[in-house]
Amino acid sequence: MAVTKSAKIIGKFTFKRGVHPPHRKKFSEDAGIRAVTLLAGSTVVVPMVQHIGAPNKPTVEKKQEVTAGQEIGSSEAFVSAPVHSPVNGVVQNVTAMNHPLGRKVLSVVISVGEQQPDQQQWKQFPADFDAQKYDSETIINATRQAGVVGQGGAAFPTAVKLKPNPEKPVDTILVNGCECEPYLTSDHRLMIEAPGPIVAGLQLAMRAAGATKGIIAIEDNKPDAINSILSCIKDTNQIQLAICKTKYPQGGEKQLINAVLKRVVPTGGLPLDVQVVVSNVGTLSSLAWAVVENRPVTQRIVTVTGAGVKSPGNFRVPVGMMLSDLLEQAGGLTDDAEKVLLGGPMMGPSTPTLDVPILKGTSGITVLTSGDIKRQQATACVRCGRCVDYCPLKLVPTRIAHAVKARDIEMALDYDLLACMECGCCSYVCPAQIPLLQYLRAGKQFARDIKK
Ligand code: SF4
Ligand code: SF4
Repeated sequence: MAVTKSAKIIGKFTFKRGVHPPHRKKFSEDAGIRAVTLLAGSTVVVPMVQHIGAPNKPTVEKKQEVTAGQEIGSSEAFVSAPVHSPVNGVVQNVTAMNHPLGRKVLSVVISVGEQQPDQQQWKQFPADFDAQKYDSETIINATRQAGVVGQGGAAFPTAVKLKPNPEKPVDTILVNGCECEPYLTSDHRLMIEAPGPIVAGLQLAMRAAGATKGIIAIEDNKPDAINSILSCIKDTNQIQLAICKTKYPQGGEKQLINAVLKRVVPTGGLPLDVQVVVSNVGTLSSLAWAVVENRPVTQRIVTVTGAGVKSPGNFRVPVGMMLSDLLEQAGGLTDDAEKVLLGGPMMGPSTPTLDVPILKGTSGITVLTSGDIKRQQATACVRCGRCVDYCPLKLVPTRIAHAVKARDIEMALDYDLLACMECGCCSYVCPAQIPLLQYLRAGKQFARDIKK
């Protein structure tokens, strides 16, 4: 498919370094988004931690009836986001349950009731929508109350990101529609099937943050998504589209800002330091529904993909649905399925259990087979320097990993361990198969434990 010519396209961009892993998007990129339904009597688990920031406290009790969209956990803390019931049902328990982070987290367990509300319309945005009708405070309050968090993975509360800070004004909202992680296609499908709410969310985010410019960035391997978004922004002011070359991790905040705006976020700094807020397409869609219809985040689009799943696809999933139930909706696992990743193969950690819930930040599930997984023993570092050459942040992964292995966290911190964005490029290019990313993650956890 060719990209439509348009004055709204501002150029073709990329960043330095990075890698080109096989896309493997074919499994699900043409699969339209399907709503999954929960059976009466099944359970959903809504953890009180689904975001960066203070955990929520449950606001419901065992045996209490709840309705879809009802707030069931909240916090007074500034950096937090409430959680809501995705279904009509009864609270079975409020207890510590398995969490995708690999530990037990206080959660509200709900038994799904017989009667569920009708599926909400989520594609067509109201034709008379006018972002000018909403002021910054209204947008930020609605975003907060709906529990909107970044859906690209980081799950930072969106209301906090958008709140104007006189010391750090924002001039641009940069929309991440790159979806550079192999296999995943949920953002791609959302841009094709429901561009209206994304563009409305961008207009609202610009008003909330006081930004004068909105740029939607999409990789050049998604011409259908580019055309879909173009058709939606043709009559808007101040919104443009940036086409990015397909490269990993193009969707990293710092790489995207550098590629499109030629600004450099300082080490340890935030996009706000260069007058930018970066937001994912799914996040903006949720924001738009939150503001216009007070709709809380109780569903999200999840790709279930890989050769290890029988019917890969893109699904509209209730937040809190169990991973095992979602995999059933995708036809179940194949006989040679070997590893289930929470995300894509570059950044997604593997899960030892299917007894974990889907969170607001879960963009995909990738199931690899025994044939996909190379079983090679790590050998000694050959000092080739490839991990350094390909690190998008110019870190020295081999030295950091060495320091972590020696439990010398001070040294690892001196080498900027905390700046690592966990993109996995270093592990991907290492000829000695050294699991550098695992060392880096372990080192960051170790540093956090020490700080506590
Ligand atoms: S050190 Fe961190 S940021 Fe650099 S390539 Fe490795 S995982 Fe990515
Ligand atoms: S890529 Fe692997 S082998 Fe090469 S320097 Fe880095 S850690 Fe050593």
